[in-house]
Amino acid sequence: MFASKPDDTPVNVCSAVVAQGLCCGCGMCAGVCPSQYLGIQFNAYGELSPCPQPESACSGCGLCLRVCPMSEPSPPTDRIAAELAPQWGQVSPDAVLGSHLRRLAGYSAAAGHRTNGASGGMGTWILEALLTKGLVNAVAAVGPGVIPETGAICGYRWCGTAADVRACAKSAYYPAELSRIIQHIKSHEGRYAVTALPCAVRALRLAMRAVKCLRERIAFIVGLTCGYGMSAFAAEYVCADAGGNPRQLNEITFRIKQNQTPSARVSLIRCVSGQGTDGEHVSLQRSDEAFGKAGGNRWFTRRACDYCDDAFAELADVCLMDAWLPAYLRDVRGNTVVVVRHSAVGALLDDAVAKGDITLADVTRDEAVRSQSPLLWFKRRLIVERIRRARKAHAPLPALRMDLYGDDLSLLETVYARVLMHMRDASPRAWLDSSKDPVAFRRRLRAPSLAAGLLRKLIRKGCRSCGE
Ligand SMILES: Cc1cc2nc3c(=O)[nH]c(=O)nc-3n(C[C@H](O)[C@H](O)[C@H](O)COP(=O)(O)OP(=O)(O)OC[C@H]3O[C@@H](n4cnc5c(N)ncnc54)[C@H](O)[C@@H]3O)c2cc1C
Ligand code: SF4
Ligand code: SF4
Ligand code: SF4
Repeated sequence: MFASKPDDTPVNVCSAVVAQGLCCGCGMCAGVCPSQYLGIQFNAYGELSPCPQPESACSGCGLCLRVCPMSEPSPPTDRIAAELAPQWGQVSPDAVLGSHLRRLAGYSAAAGHRTNGASGGMGTWILEALLTKGLVNAVAAVGPGVIPETGAICGYRWCGTAADVRACAKSAYYPAELSRIIQHIKSHEGRYAVTALPCAVRALRLAMRAVKCLRERIAFIVGLTCGYGMSAFAAEYVCADAGGNPRQLNEITFRIKQNQTPSARVSLIRCVSGQGTDGEHVSLQRSDEAFGKAGGNRWFTRRACDYCDDAFAELADVCLMDAWLPAYLRDVRGNTVVVVRHSAVGALLDDAVAKGDITLADVTRDEAVRSQSPLLWFKRRLIVERIRRARKAHAPLPALRMDLYGDDLSLLETVYARVLMHMRDASPRAWLDSSKDPVAFRRRLRAPSLAAGLLRKLIRKGCRSCGE
């Protein structure tokens, strides 16, 4: 089916996905490639992407295309969810949240979990519980430290102890790819848990369908809700805006909690840059400044994210997100919304609530959906204009679920979606062309940023459900 192009060049993800601008950088293709033909590297725009390795050859086996979450022929997410239902338990189907058993909100009471976690520390609690109760032998989580293969300043690492899991707490808004993790699982027997963003969860499920040992060894997938995946340029921009040297960024930590602000939405970002005789530059800045504006304008986000319709990691055994709900929002200590799919995760949570190790309360289906309303507006409504534009340009698209998207965009929403697409597209070039100077960069994107701000205000005025 995928064997070769008319000129006999084998078809693989490099031509069918990466060259079409659809790669989300999950690394799964390189993890499964039987010929070790694919490596993962940063491209010129600070994005992790597969690239051919000169010393090996592609056999045209097509496995990379079968596991790629963005490749066009792969099955839609709901079909894969239906296959998983028997192993999850009595899940109820839900077109927005994905099939699930229960929805809960709260936090871990274990020392340090909540303080060090992005939200209520439930991610760390669940991964630690899976490990310490012997349900898995090791956990693959994303934490700080240089990844030698790519030069990334954080990424996936193996955790064999509770302390290792705790060192990976918080959210990394930085590229993280799975190739080394998958290669390790293929060559080492055991039971593993992996944390992942929705696109990487989809890649994991596709790989588990295609490769028997992955199916047998990956026991739990802990998913995170995801608004956007940012390139390494986003971290450089934040570092430069705080006075550091973006070319010498060594460390970045997002979501450091602070007690002074009344809202859990505002946290701190710590950047460390510099080396040698210039010394180190360390800065702390508010998340709603440079980083918040970059995210709101879709600067440095990947093109693949324009076509991502999964807000709740629909194929993960459990999905975690911020409790952006009035009852929880003012609690700066943080709370996590937990969407439970796998009954074994539900049983772990029940046991811990009974012992007082964690505090969780039921949330209604509508509350869980409402906690992500701006994200759903982007992923399930504005997506329509992005698809229209891609189709007009005859650009390939990944598997889409057209019946789930609203198709009655207002003129303002249509223009807003286009302005965001323009900024997503223009921002990496603008960052390079302004020599990584944040002031010169913002000047280049001034007109579309102002237009986006104005459109946001006008849309919010007329539409309660799309505001933040
Ligand atoms: C890129 C990104 C975008 C997000 N977008 C949203 C959003 O729009 N709305 C929302 O409500 N929540 C979003 N989240 C999830 C949110 O930030 C928290 O991760 C979630 O609420 C769990 O918090 P916690 O305190 O329970 O988990 P913690 O105890 O902090 O544990 C989080 C776990 O996630 C792992 N992790 C961190 N970064 C990554 C990554 N990049 N890839 C895979 N695993 C990772 C860590 O290793 C850790 O084990 C996003 C997270 C990321 C990384
Ligand atoms: S998985 Fe198969 S088709 Fe894909 S790059 Fe490797 S050898 Fe080629
Ligand atoms: S999306 Fe993932 S699997 Fe697909 S080409 Fe990119 S890195 Fe490879
Ligand atoms: S928005 Fe979707 S494609 Fe982009 S990083 Fe998040 S889960 Fe992946």
